[in-house]
Amino acid sequence: LVEIKNLHKSFGSNHVLRGIDFTVEQGEVVCVIGPSGSGKSTLLRCVNLLEVPEVGEVFVRGEDITDRDCHLDAARQQIGMVFQQFNLFPHLSVLANCTVAQTSVLKRGKAEAEQIARANLDRVGLNEKVTAYPMQLSGGQQQRVAIARALSMDPALMLFDEPTSALDPELVGDVLTVMRKLALDGMTMLVVTHEMAFAREVADRVVFMDAGVIVEQGPPAEVIGNPKEERTRTFLRRVL
Ligand code: ATP
Ligand code: MG
Repeated sequence: LVEIKNLHKSFGSNHVLRGIDFTVEQGEVVCVIGPSGSGKSTLLRCVNLLEVPEVGEVFVRGEDITDRDCHLDAARQQIGMVFQQFNLFPHLSVLANCTVAQTSVLKRGKAEAEQIARANLDRVGLNEKVTAYPMQLSGGQQQRVAIARALSMDPALMLFDEPTSALDPELVGDVLTVMRKLALDGMTMLVVTHEMAFAREVADRVVFMDAGVIVEQGPPAEVIGNPKEERTRTFLRRVL
């Protein structure tokens, strides 16, 4: 579904991504772990071209989205993104947050968009909050709205960038439960996370990044349970 080839990205003289190659298959859940500043968010942002890489290619469903001729909006529509900060529209109700892009981007009618939004809010356990506003919700609830909003666009792939890092500890579980359910439903997911228990349990594959390269990747039992590389071991000793 996603294929990344020899990706390089710099900010000024800071060479952040130094040749990243990897793929995400349909239905696969890939967790990206690694120290702060290793380039995890930058990598994720390159997958939907929120950052433009200097070198390398990103294929989504076989289409090179780094190609000038690519219809970027169409490619982006297939990709849902959930950030650490929930980025909801504060002046819109929960329901409207989940319908606005459906009507404006996908040109769905209001009734259809609302039906889809309600189904997705149901999926994340928030059917009772459709008329609430973001500021009336807990962080965990807001993050679940953000997930429902992304799902309402029928993405082929969901990107998550530390979706639980901004939450109070007692709210983390609800969001992870929703993500676990999504994974079981077969959603293709690329997740940057510090939640090692989640990665161990839910990921099909774990990618360990350090200093802009993939140091090792494989099933969680290997990368987290029995890492080959010293750098991975050092990192895990600090976070586990
Ligand atoms: P964290 O775990 O702290 O979120 P990360 O692995 O996600 O870290 P990135 O956010 O990808 O790391 O940042 C990698 C490097 O790129 C850092 O040195 C950061 O300062 C730099 N960087 C990221 N975004 C920008 C930007 N928009 N402009 C300039 N430098 C940036
Ligand atoms: Mg980050």
